Amino acid sequence: MEERLFVSCPHCSATNRLPPERIADTPVCGRCGETLLAGQPLELTDANFDAVAQAAGQPMLVDFWAPWCGPCRAMAPAFEQAGRTLAGRALLVKVNSDDNPKLSARFGIRSIPTLVRIDKGRETARQSGAVPAAAIVQFAGV
Ligand SMILES: [Zn+2]
Repeated sequence: MEERLFVSCPHCSATNRLPPERIADTPVCGRCGETLLAGQPLELTDANFDAVAQAAGQPMLVDFWAPWCGPCRAMAPAFEQAGRTLAGRALLVKVNSDDNPKLSARFGIRSIPTLVRIDKGRETARQSGAVPAAAIVQFAGV
């Protein structure tokens, strides 16, 4: 299982391989040296989800989505916008529910998009359906 996380640099677009345990250490891009996590949503998988959730050190908002889901695609820009607003206060991540059946089953995802808030390893809130950026920020509660 590949636990490592692949993060696209928001400054130079280089793909960085990041060990999940370093997620709270303000990692920088291996190519340009800029801050790697500037609030852009991270794509997590069955393999690396738990390691990232443990190391996050801040509440995590999980967007369960799939490429064929129209409302999911419609919400994606709002999720990215909320990520920039919440940078440093909450970690926004996306999970493709088709590609990651274990996470979908564990969280009992029946419809997408579904937002799940996780704090210290526990689910503290969830919300189904596409919502605007302001509602995502409010849902984060940070
Ligand atoms: Zn870079």
